[in-house]
Amino acid sequence: MNTAPFSSLALSDAFLGNLDSLGYHQMTPIQAQALPVILDGHDLIAQAKTGSGKTAAFGIGILNALNPRFFGIQALVLCPTRELADQVAKELRRLARHIDNVKIITLCGGTPMGPQIGSLEHGAHIVVGTPGRIRDHLGRGTVDLSTISTLVLDEADRMVDMGFYEDIMGIASACPKKRQTLLFSATYPDTIRKESARLLRLPVEIKVESLHD
Ligand code: ADP
Ligand code: MG
Repeated sequence: MNTAPFSSLALSDAFLGNLDSLGYHQMTPIQAQALPVILDGHDLIAQAKTGSGKTAAFGIGILNALNPRFFGIQALVLCPTRELADQVAKELRRLARHIDNVKIITLCGGTPMGPQIGSLEHGAHIVVGTPGRIRDHLGRGTVDLSTISTLVLDEADRMVDMGFYEDIMGIASACPKKRQTLLFSATYPDTIRKESARLLRLPVEIKVESLHD
């Protein structure tokens, strides 16, 4: 099986210690394939099933590149639903326990705008949210994506199925051209395959059938 310990990656001792305390010792196959690519700064299209550990794959990449002293949004993770966004934010907070004062916020539909605008005004390092609501914030000028260095599309196939394609493209065009884009999906949808050049730059493509292959 294509796997290795997290300690084979160029991560700080504090980060490795936190992963250890979470019970993460060996990388899952998707992590073992994706993390060297992500840590090298490449764009990525990764196909893997649910439960394969995709959140830590992009989460470790985001947190390794994060500058907690800079209070601007450095990473944006787009998810299909509020429930998934909450789960991703929770996992990112666990992965970030070794870093002081990392602010991770969620911006999803179905919750009032006021508190979201308030937390954006306070400053956030990482935003996790649904495409519709983030597009809404962009339209109102309440979110600034110009300092993004990593854009993650989580469950991209589901987001496209749910009709979020245009929102995703609008959000991507509000992010700097010079950024890292990471796309995770159970399948590789045609819509994204056709227009991947608009979203990703020379992406490395990886595919993992299942955790136990
Ligand atoms: P996916 O997004 O691929 O569906 P998740 O990122 O939600 O999967 O991870 C599934 C589960 O595996 C979570 O409970 C997570 O804590 C756990 N997990 C992730 N990576 C590891 C690892 N390297 N070692 C042990 N457990 C892990
Ligand atoms: Mg996931």
